Amino acid sequence: MNGAVIPNTPIAVDFWRVRRCPHSRIFFLSHMHADHTAGLTSSWNSYTIYCSVITKKLLTAKLHVKSELVVGLPLYEPVTINLDEVGRETMTVTLVDANHCPGSVMFIFEGYFGRILYTGDFRFCDRLLKYSAIKGKQFDTLYLDNTYCHPKCFFPTRSNATTTVVEIIRNHPQHTIVIGLHSLGKETLLYDIAVACKCWIGMDPSRSETMELVGMPQVFTCDVDSTRIRVVSFQEVNKRNIDLWNSKEPTIAILPTCLYVGGSNPYENVPNVFVVPYSDHSSFEELKAFVSDIRPRKIIPIVHKHRLSADENPNSRVNMNIFQSLMEPSSSQKFSVPPSVECFMAPEMKQDVKKRMKATTKLGIRKVAKSRKACGVVFLPSQEECEEQKFCGWANGDFEDKENTDSERGDGVAKEIDIQERHDSMFSPMKNDRESGSGVVADNKGVAINDNSRDKVGSVYFILKEGFELMVPERKRVIELTKMKKY
Ligand SMILES: [Zn+2]
Repeated sequence: MNGAVIPNTPIAVDFWRVRRCPHSRIFFLSHMHADHTAGLTSSWNSYTIYCSVITKKLLTAKLHVKSELVVGLPLYEPVTINLDEVGRETMTVTLVDANHCPGSVMFIFEGYFGRILYTGDFRFCDRLLKYSAIKGKQFDTLYLDNTYCHPKCFFPTRSNATTTVVEIIRNHPQHTIVIGLHSLGKETLLYDIAVACKCWIGMDPSRSETMELVGMPQVFTCDVDSTRIRVVSFQEVNKRNIDLWNSKEPTIAILPTCLYVGGSNPYENVPNVFVVPYSDHSSFEELKAFVSDIRPRKIIPIVHKHRLSADENPNSRVNMNIFQSLMEPSSSQKFSVPPSVECFMAPEMKQDVKKRMKATTKLGIRKVAKSRKACGVVFLPSQEECEEQKFCGWANGDFEDKENTDSERGDGVAKEIDIQERHDSMFSPMKNDRESGSGVVADNKGVAINDNSRDKVGSVYFILKEGFELMVPERKRVIELTKMKKY
């Protein structure tokens, strides 16, 4: 998965594992390639997704994401987006054509966090540097497509690669031509081939639908038997299929890709297969040209898994120090997260947890009626710690008995509260000047542990025995509780 969560912001780009980014609220999709949509399905029901207009069409048609959750933004126009619930804090985002595949864009984010350029996948071209959103701007952080960030990755322009493909086709006038492609990308190459060879390009209905969605000129046909050039999936081009196709009629396959540049080519000894270095990503030289013009203060690579040659250092393509001499010195100025944004980013209680909370509370009240006095045990953070940690909610448990408090609470300070009080105080900022501490309270229904580590001051964990519901407002804590159950 090639995405990123922008630190100290509610922004996530091409990142769809919402459990792993509980603070993200605003989601962006750079383009529709599978390694950028991993985890994004028709069941997406979380937050609005911002992308280009073409990507919106593809996203709703191909992945069936609900249209009302997707906003297609225009290119080159700064758009204001709220960074909190009330619109007190905003940012602008500007989309720029990434020259990669239909609908692919770069994002330029500007806000309290500075100015960020997120390239997504892109193929460098001179016009990129002329866009007003980029030209002359100082970027604090550049998230860079480092797919071919290695001196070995040298390949021709797409125009030259197209010429090579057309020459191969013209040199095989009696052959059927099979072109192996992934589901999206290189549509322009197909169009150029159709025009140069004056020939329809055959393809399956799904790819044909894609061509229509992205607005390609109509040079394609689903009647694959009516033309000698057709598109198949990249994976279909293998020795077995080549032999099969050639047993019926003379056939050659063309793979327009730079995957094997600088490394070993698995098709090297496969007859009738031509691998042409046609790339929708920037070469190493192009990346250098781009970075030297942008001169960002910091670079973060966005691709972490690469197809490497045998002698290549696994970390070589993510090492951005290679651009050090082309960057501006990093700024000592630190930004702080505005309070309203911090509140916006606070983890939400999921609906199902809310329901369980409600059910458990009812259960607790019923139990209260049976018992003489309903008590719980809760460790409390100090006021300073509350403010310092911006502690907005806390866990609670269904404890009835007040025994095992003083003697077994360790260093912690415990407070007995009844069911109603706990219910009222749930998820409210704590107002108590007692000192917090760590400790364990055993109870006939479970154990409460106050985690007093620096990043979790005030967190109260309850580990309940089997059969008792858990009342925890944050999924993160549920996960931690699960781990702690082993304890
Ligand atoms: Zn891509």
